Parts: sequence; structure tokens; C-alpha cells
Amino acid sequence: MRLTDKVEEAARVLTICNACRYCEGHCAVFQAMELRLEFNADNLDYMANLCHNCGACYHNCQYAPPHEFNLNVPAAMAELRQENYGIFAWPGFMGKLFANNGLWVSLLSILVIAGFFLMTSMKAGENFMLAHENGFYGVLSHNDLAAIFGLVGGFVALALLMSVIKFWKTMQLGNPLALDWGRVLQGVKDALTLKYLDGGNGQGCSYPNETPSMARRWFHQLTFWGFMLCFAATSVGTVMHYGFAMEAPYDFITLPKILGTLGGLGLLIGPAGLLGIKVGATADVKGKSNKGMDVTFLMLLFFTSLSGLVLMFVSKTVYVGPVLSLHLGIVMTLFLSMPYGKFVHGFYRLIALIAFAVEKQRHKPVVGTE
Ligand code: SF4
Ligand code: SF4
Repeated sequence: MRLTDKVEEAARVLTICNACRYCEGHCAVFQAMELRLEFNADNLDYMANLCHNCGACYHNCQYAPPHEFNLNVPAAMAELRQENYGIFAWPGFMGKLFANNGLWVSLLSILVIAGFFLMTSMKAGENFMLAHENGFYGVLSHNDLAAIFGLVGGFVALALLMSVIKFWKTMQLGNPLALDWGRVLQGVKDALTLKYLDGGNGQGCSYPNETPSMARRWFHQLTFWGFMLCFAATSVGTVMHYGFAMEAPYDFITLPKILGTLGGLGLLIGPAGLLGIKVGATADVKGKSNKGMDVTFLMLLFFTSLSGLVLMFVSKTVYVGPVLSLHLGIVMTLFLSMPYGKFVHGFYRLIALIAFAVEKQRHKPVVGTE
């Protein structure tokens, strides 16, 4: 079992919390802590992924800095998450990409956008700067787009699946088919409703400052459902195109366009709000090594949506080629960074919440794997 500085710090912090237990009502972390007897790496990875960095326990803690215990639970959990994201990555050597995530994703975005400008302009020739009746499909065909993104999407889905399997095993959940599905659904419900972003008292997160607010929960919901609607729009469009011979592009009043537009608005407002909250944070509860990753992910979501909405409006103008290249470059960067950036947190939190729901019902302590 690994024993790193981050594991040691998380164990130190939670050992003090386990004696204190003042924050029991804030979130699942403190209740999960009481059901596990050992603060080893596996158990700490589980608790770290239950923490959503609301800051409530930091602001309420009598041992927070400047106390000599220097207790900062959210920062310790955030640092540990950063470490275990890398450990669960697939293939393993790619886990290094979680370090300096902001830097490499920024560099990648420049390269990928430039690559799409080059590829699209060469492939489209003079069509690159012409208006087309069939919108951006006059620049790149549906089949070209499906081939490029299908290939990358396949790898991304495999990498995410392998990481999720590794994480699931670490959570000691066993065979998913043997689980009590009522508890599984409880975990899914807690994840989808962002239950623990209510601060434990319905007033919301103490983030970005001590004053509780539901803003973070609402912006997070907009981001999540915005993403899901965009995903649904692409899926419905693909089924219509290949399954029912209803060829893209689609009119504005069609299901893919309606879903895509609503999703795009959610993905514009949600990440912008979360970025605003992050910039206004007054206490250092985030941990030092993951700030770039969070900001980069939110910016990618925001610009994916913004460029997508702009593309919708200019798709029958002479600007279609450049805007399409920009949009595809941003989307491709988002795709490539998904298994090696903040995107993974959704899967790990969901699994941790399922483990928590299952364990609460069993109500018996679980000792680590060692
Ligand atoms: S964060 Fe502080 S107040 Fe809360 S349980 Fe831990 S030691 Fe106690
Ligand atoms: S920061 Fe919030 S979610 Fe994380 S342990 Fe503290 S109270 Fe729980």
C-alpha cells in the first residue's frame, strides 16, 4: 500500500478529525470516516473522493491555521485526489499528465487548434472561406468528422473505463451485480442531485468564503446537465443520420438542435459561474497542485460551448471554415484531456458515493485491504 507525503498528511488530518467529530453533519466524508477504522491509502482515496471541497469544515475548524495543528481538511483531500487521479489513470504512465495539467492542456490546445486549421483548410481548399448551403458540412463532411472523433472518442472511452474499473476495485465494492441496487440508486441520486453541496444544512457551500451559498451547486448543475444535453444532442443526431437516413445538418426546430442549444447555454453559464466563484475564493482550501487543472477544465468547457454556439450562427457564412477549425480544435482538446484531467472526478465521486450508500446500510466497519 502506498505511503506518500499526501497520504500521510490526509491520515494525520483525519486522525485528528476522528477524535473531534465536530463536522459530522457537513458531508459524507466525516460519516464515512467513522465507518472505516484505518486511514490507509485505499480508505483515504475513498474519503478524498467524497470531499467536494466546500470549505465548511475548514471555516468551522478550531485547529485550522494559525493553530499549530495547521489543519486544512479540504486542501489535504484535494491534494490526495490530485495524486490518486494519476494513480488510477490508464495507461498508467499517462497519470503523470495530472501534474502541470493546466500547462500541458494549454499547449495541447494551441497545437490541436493549429492542426485543425491546417487540416481543414487543406481538405476544404477554396471551400474553407466560402458560404455553404449545408453549413459546416460544406467544409468537412459528416463522415470525416465521425471518423476523426469516433477514433479519439473510442480511445477516451476505453481509458475512462479502465480507470473506473481500477477505482471500483480500490473501493472494495466487489461484483456490481451482487450489490443492493437500492443502495446503488441512492448513491446515483446523491451524485446527480449534488446532495452534499448543500453544506449539510441546506444553506450551501462555504465557498468561496465563509458565507454559505447555493450558487456553486446551481452552477455545477448547469455545467453537468449542459454537458449531458450536448452529449444527448450528438447521440440523437448520430442515430438520425445513420439509423434513419435523416442527414445532418438539422433545422433549428429539431431535437438535436434544441438539445444542443439548451446544453450549450448550460455549458456557458455553469463554467463561467464556477470560474467566477473560484476567482473570488478567499481561503486556501483547494490544495496547491490542482488549481491549474480545475481552471483549465472549466475554460475548455466554456470555450467549447461558446465556439459551438458561434458556429451555429455563422455556419452559413464565409466565416464557417475558421470558426469550425477553432471549435473542433477546442472540442478535440477537451476530448483528449478527459481521462487525464478534472473530468474524471465525476466518475470517482459517483463510485465513492455508491460505496458510501452501500456502507451506510451495512453499518459495519471495513478494514483496509492490507
Ligand atoms: S475539521 Fe476541525 S472541527 Fe471539523 S472534525 Fe476536523 S478537527 Fe474537528
Ligand atoms: S471541504 Fe466540505 S466536503 Fe470536504 S470534507 Fe470539508 S465539509 Fe466535507
